[in-house]
Amino acid sequence: MNDAGSAKIPLVDLQRQYRSIEKEVASAVVDVMDRGQFILGENVQAFEQEFARYCGVEHAVGVASGTDALMLCLAALDLNPGDEVITVANTFVATTDSILYCGGKPVLVDADPRTRCMDVSQVHAAVTSKTRAIIPVHTYGHPVDMDPLLEFAEKRDIAVIEDACQGHGTEYKQVKAGSMGKCAAFSFYPSKTLGAYGDGGMVTSNDADLANRIRMLRNYGEEEKYKHVVLGFNSRLDEIQAAILRVKLGHLDHWINERRRVAAEYTAALAGLPDLQLPYEEEYARHSYYLYVVRTQRREILRNSLSREGISCGIHYPVPIHLQPAYRDLEMARKKYPVSEALAGEILSLPMFPELTQAEIDQISKIVRQCITSV
Ligand SMILES: *Cc1c(COP(=O)(O)O)cnc(C)c1O
Repeated sequence: MNDAGSAKIPLVDLQRQYRSIEKEVASAVVDVMDRGQFILGENVQAFEQEFARYCGVEHAVGVASGTDALMLCLAALDLNPGDEVITVANTFVATTDSILYCGGKPVLVDADPRTRCMDVSQVHAAVTSKTRAIIPVHTYGHPVDMDPLLEFAEKRDIAVIEDACQGHGTEYKQVKAGSMGKCAAFSFYPSKTLGAYGDGGMVTSNDADLANRIRMLRNYGEEEKYKHVVLGFNSRLDEIQAAILRVKLGHLDHWINERRRVAAEYTAALAGLPDLQLPYEEEYARHSYYLYVVRTQRREILRNSLSREGISCGIHYPVPIHLQPAYRDLEMARKKYPVSEALAGEILSLPMFPELTQAEIDQISKIVRQCITSV
């Protein structure tokens, strides 16, 4: 039942952004075709340098996806079977999949109810003699409280691998996500804050040896042409995607500012309502708003009200990690993570993309307010 004239609003609109950079993208893509180098060419190399500079790190290695970026970080650590890797129950399944691909055992801690990120105070109790790594996830674009985590991990010689797949441009105490751990994984899945027009990913690190290992691992373990020194993978960032990402990186700061504008407008319009918890931004954080996630016990009613008006929302994520069917036989499936479980039942991601207009934000906010305040 749409109001006459009011257009539908998607959760994410990639076409509006494309239209604003159409010419730049077209010429970058045609240029790759003209040069005829499609794998590990100069666009990948240049984008690695540009993205490293953006994140404030020394090295960046382009890979096939965010999942592979995480997997390659863990593969470079040479986990022994049964080695434990601690992460959070409120994340995307790729975080824990990557641990399992490398023969590791995922160990979960719960989320902080305010930031919805890893509750760092729970990590201590999760550590055992087998803990090799910790993967903090900058969930929704809010940074994990990294200082206490880094200090704790360093004392115990545990590697910290940032899952920055939702954290492009996110800052913790004015330092960019992806530059704080031993290494970090980024995704360029199209809907991410910096998205390609296909799959892509990146590992960032200040450790030259580690970056070199990942360079080998992504390319069949090759040290020099046809000399394969370790068992590797085929997991490279595509040259065409790198060319597109170079164009888009030039706009990223502007787009993050626009995301923050949208978030501030939502927050101004929705603050103070009963049973509606808005995103929280800690003092140490500069949230990049990959997602704008509200929480309410009326989640289904709210989602239906918005949907009736042509407004699409998302749930990130409806099933916490330990309750995923694929993991039913793992030890974590028998544990309880009450905050993540409650979040899964009550969170709703409102439309969030840099090109959202004030009229659209007003329309969405009005429906949310009406729905939440009606009995
Ligand atoms: C998107 C995402 C990934 C996986 O990235 P892909 O590029 O889709 O493989 C991993 N972790 C988190 C937190 C993500 O949001």
